[in-house]
Amino acid sequence: TSEGEILGYLYSKGIKPDGVLKLSKDVVKMVCEEYDVEVIDADPIRVEEMAKKKEILDDDDLDKLELRPPVLTIMGHVDHGKTSLLDYIRRSKVAASEAGGITQGIGAYRVQVPFDGKPQTCVFLDTPGHEAFGAMRARGARVTDIAIIVVAADDGIQPQTTEAIAHAKAAGVPIIVAINKIDKDGANPDRVMQDLSSIGLMPEEWGGDIPMVKISALKGENVDDLLETVMLVSELQELKANPNRNAKGTVIEAGLDKSRGPVATFIVQNGTLKRGDIVVCGEAFGKVRALFDDKGKRVDEAGPSIPVQVIGLNNVPLAGDEFEVVGSLDIAREQAESRADYMRNERIMEKAGDGMITLSSLASAVSAGKTVGLDLHQLNIILKVDLQGSIEAVRQALQVLPQTNISLKFLLQATGDISSSDVDLAVASKAIIFGFNVKVPGSVKSQADNKGVEIRLYRVIYDLIDDVRKAMEGLLDTVE
Ligand code: GDP
Repeated sequence: TSEGEILGYLYSKGIKPDGVLKLSKDVVKMVCEEYDVEVIDADPIRVEEMAKKKEILDDDDLDKLELRPPVLTIMGHVDHGKTSLLDYIRRSKVAASEAGGITQGIGAYRVQVPFDGKPQTCVFLDTPGHEAFGAMRARGARVTDIAIIVVAADDGIQPQTTEAIAHAKAAGVPIIVAINKIDKDGANPDRVMQDLSSIGLMPEEWGGDIPMVKISALKGENVDDLLETVMLVSELQELKANPNRNAKGTVIEAGLDKSRGPVATFIVQNGTLKRGDIVVCGEAFGKVRALFDDKGKRVDEAGPSIPVQVIGLNNVPLAGDEFEVVGSLDIAREQAESRADYMRNERIMEKAGDGMITLSSLASAVSAGKTVGLDLHQLNIILKVDLQGSIEAVRQALQVLPQTNISLKFLLQATGDISSSDVDLAVASKAIIFGFNVKVPGSVKSQADNKGVEIRLYRVIYDLIDDVRKAMEGLLDTVE
């Protein structure tokens, strides 16, 4: 059957395919039926995407979804009060009357918040900071539903504030700002709000879409408001999972315990994990011998969003590994082994920079006219510079480049040397890192090499602009 014939058939049905010939599934089915072709209902792109994003919900779950608690990460600059906030919430909101009321450090804890007339649960990840967040995301894990960005009211936006915001934004995670230390002399929350709005976070109070709550983590002032805001944002998100199925989710912490062997904390993201279940988890597997909740209490099961410590794995998995319940130990062993093989290959592939973008790959794609197919119509940029003033200079010079084929997107622009979390951000978002008068520590350089992330360093703005311009025009020499 020729293309023309099919086009003719489509026209006869009143269907006018658009320029790129994107057909809906129904139309494809109709055409296949007309020409007696077997329909295989798998969309390769979607399958690949699912594998990549570690999609948590299956099609079968869609009509069995129930609301689940939000999972939160607290991020922000050092000393702005992340740990104080986590500690205050843990101390004040975890009911001390419950059996073993003190939380155990399993990597996350649950909090009850009165909302909508009843106590509702939210879950805090215990490792604050965008480094952990970025590292998990670079491994493909998506655990956090909402990010709380803490900014000290007496110190304002600092480099790690900017980085934390960049990580949350690139992940598409909604942001709530906690303006902290309002009890301090010299606290100027309005100034913080102004500065945040100038970098694109407009406070709700001023008609924008970012909730900002002024708190004192030290005194606990307005922390209730913050938690209520969390529940409001969560409600809008309609976070859902299907509790009535085999569990899957993500490892958030793991280690070797002298007496108990490999111990891992899972966040269940779909289904319910039960004692006795057989799990594969990265390259590890095993039968769940015991489950402990965040209060160190033995439990029989854990549902969606609930963190739980698992005993019974044969090996220590990695934070960010996906886990899944399977039918038998044989299946589990087989999957863990093939996963180990896959990872070995992946490491080889990563070495070759598979899927990552470099300026020269961009240039060759442009000159071959393939940018759209390669999903390269946008160049994601992480920009690290020596001085605040250089940011605007570089940015403005780049932004006047004609962006007809390729548009430039700044994921992060900040001062300071290139860091490991910059590389994680680049991996997770397929970005190129540009450094202007900054350094790359050796360990960061080798991390970037391993992952195929391109880092380009410049001392002269003109050179940087020129390279980007040439790449966008497809003219950059391919051998660099
Ligand atoms: P982190 O590095 O972001 O985890 O910051 P910390 O929670 O360790 O806090 C850094 C310092 O700021 C500590 O000395 C805290 O006691 C102090 N701090 C945190 N929150 C507040 C607050 O709301 N008010 C005041 N006055 N100090 C605070």
